[in-house]
Amino acid sequence: MAFVTRFAPSPTGPLHLGHAYSAILAHDMARAAGGAFLLRMEDTDLERAKPEWEALILDDLAWLGLTWDGPVHRQSDHIDAYNARLETLGPRGLLYPCSCTRSDIRAALAAPQEGVPHQVYPGTCRQRPTAERQPGDALRLDLRKAFAALDADRLTFTETGPHHAGIHRIDFETSARSIGDVVLGRKGENIVAYFLASAFDDADQKITHVIRGADLFDFTPIQVILQRLLGLPTPIYHHHALIRDDQGKRLAKRDDARAIAKYRAEGATPTDIRRMVGLA
Ligand code: GLU
Repeated sequence: MAFVTRFAPSPTGPLHLGHAYSAILAHDMARAAGGAFLLRMEDTDLERAKPEWEALILDDLAWLGLTWDGPVHRQSDHIDAYNARLETLGPRGLLYPCSCTRSDIRAALAAPQEGVPHQVYPGTCRQRPTAERQPGDALRLDLRKAFAALDADRLTFTETGPHHAGIHRIDFETSARSIGDVVLGRKGENIVAYFLASAFDDADQKITHVIRGADLFDFTPIQVILQRLLGLPTPIYHHHALIRDDQGKRLAKRDDARAIAKYRAEGATPTDIRRMVGLA
């Protein structure tokens, strides 16, 4: 199929207007192209992701009139498989064990959020041999070695969103400054980073177009680097503008005032929601 996209919420809170915009946009683009719209629950944060949030999100999406193709893909069902694939980078010398504190690592594994600056890792553990790995250590990608293993000419991706449309080239200096040696997983707790799980799933679900919020644009290079290292295809990216509140702040899950469930309780219709996000 020529156009396969997905909506990939993390079920750690209610669906709010910003998510509704993203989901409706991806759904409508897929339907207009005669393509597929898939649903993925990015529930690898086992502490914060809850089945009740997932149920509410699914209910809100159905109420909005969105239909998705095939069953919901739940990341928590695939964690062993992600880790097994992550481990294949180890023998290639691309990973190193890192014993930073638990809270640092937890923050590094989650999907990035606007307003929460990404901490570029200073490389403290970079020289630690894999053989010294302790239970509970995280695995980081050695970005310099990753670049050395890749063909620089092929490190590009296509963006079709409103702000950065064009072909983007990924270079080491910029990536080292903005992304650095990211955490990809933490075996002891059987968890895997958003970056990696999402790259695997986009390939497994044969996603041709990733439609998501502009806050994730800066992290696309790391996903493309992982795709190249693991021999996965690179979809076309479309980062859309974010729905903001009256103060210009991005809506986040914690802004329950903008939760779709709240608008529903107040008597709004799906068309009202479409109108609010400019997609009526
Ligand atoms: N799960 C991510 C979020 O909650 C979205 C990731 C993506 O669309 O690639 O924002």
